[in-house]
Amino acid sequence: MSKLAVFGGHKEVTTRLTEFNSIGAEEISAVTKVLKSGRLSGFVGSNEYGFLGGQFVREFESAWASFFNVKHAISLNSWTSGLTAIVAALGVEPGDEVIVPTWTMCASASAVLHSFAIPVFVDINEEDFNISLASIDAAITPRTKAIMVVDIFGQSADIWGVLELAKKHQLKVITDSAQSIGALHHSQFVGTLADIGGFSLNYHKHIHTGEGGVVVTNDSSLAERVQLLRNHAEAVVSDRPMSNLSNLVGHNYRMCEIEAAIGICQLSKLSDILKRRYSQVQKLLNGLRDLPGLKIPEINPGNTHVFYIIGMVLDLDKLDIGRSVIVKALRAEGVQGLIEGYINVHMLPMYQKKIAYGGKGFPWNSPVYSGSVEYHEGICPIAERLHKETFVGFKICLFDLNETEIGQITGAFHKVWANLDLLRKEG
Ligand SMILES: *Cc1c(COP(=O)(O)O)cnc(C)c1O
Repeated sequence: MSKLAVFGGHKEVTTRLTEFNSIGAEEISAVTKVLKSGRLSGFVGSNEYGFLGGQFVREFESAWASFFNVKHAISLNSWTSGLTAIVAALGVEPGDEVIVPTWTMCASASAVLHSFAIPVFVDINEEDFNISLASIDAAITPRTKAIMVVDIFGQSADIWGVLELAKKHQLKVITDSAQSIGALHHSQFVGTLADIGGFSLNYHKHIHTGEGGVVVTNDSSLAERVQLLRNHAEAVVSDRPMSNLSNLVGHNYRMCEIEAAIGICQLSKLSDILKRRYSQVQKLLNGLRDLPGLKIPEINPGNTHVFYIIGMVLDLDKLDIGRSVIVKALRAEGVQGLIEGYINVHMLPMYQKKIAYGGKGFPWNSPVYSGSVEYHEGICPIAERLHKETFVGFKICLFDLNETEIGQITGAFHKVWANLDLLRKEG
């Protein structure tokens, strides 16, 4: 048995893992076309043709709507902008509550605060890291207006379960599918199954435009409100017959023609990218499957998984060793892209201190809010324990692994597992 790298032995992973890069000749030629035209944006912030952007933005949106089989696809400069516009478009009032899983990127929740509403954090399932139905049920109050479902790491949450709960309580459902673009839930695209949802086109996502986002919905009035919020709503509505003016304080969330041109190419590559990713992950997981005390991701019935992060859980009772010792040994073997734990949004200082807009506790302590939401440690025990003790993620989104690299990574895991006794003593 060879000596662990953490004790001075040879590394199993000998190179920098191949970086994922989906940008190629198609994007270069599309961008060149935009640049040669000189028209880098077609947007105008008034009630005329340019309100909905230029040629490439329009083409991008129609390609997107047809691919995802939705009535409306709305491009934005980021998915954070998309989420912020969605919460406002839904008519969430200051002081309303929106339920959000704590195990997500912070923007899922800050989108709620941007409407001066209150994020109510709920726990996740240990098995798939997605929002827990029982936790949602327990968190609903008379102030609850919407549920934000995040399809985390690459597969759908139990969206049908959430929709049923939402119907019972007359709540809106938003899906944040930034990490799960192209994944299916009972043959339908994740992101398109709720009232409104969408995707990120940030550099780290499966397909990207550098920065960008897309809102998708079949609800035409919501779509119009998102389009308005994207583009100076308050000015545009002066020339439109809008009866509901609430929350139409506009932004500039518009996408450039360059990003739109890139996005059209990227969308056409999505299926191939997902197939390639899936086959790499299957090989990787086959190599990790037999390691005792390491739980690899399960794909829920009815789901396909697009693997943004490979989420694994250590059985600490079985392993009898701390996560940090194992991860340190794996990193010493040259394994890149590992994360210990993931985000618990409720533990961020902004929520712990309840300081958001201004320094006096707005919106939590303002008269518009009649509830008393708690953010203290302990409110999301599953997410908290996963984060602090048992969760190990592999950021597959960063890499385009070849066979050699997959072999080296699984070799590193096997080497560490074969030396657990030694690590228990000396780690
Ligand atoms: C990336 C991400 C976002 C934010 O998307 P941006 O386009 O970077 O603004 C929101 N939610 C989740 C779950 C994400 O992974």
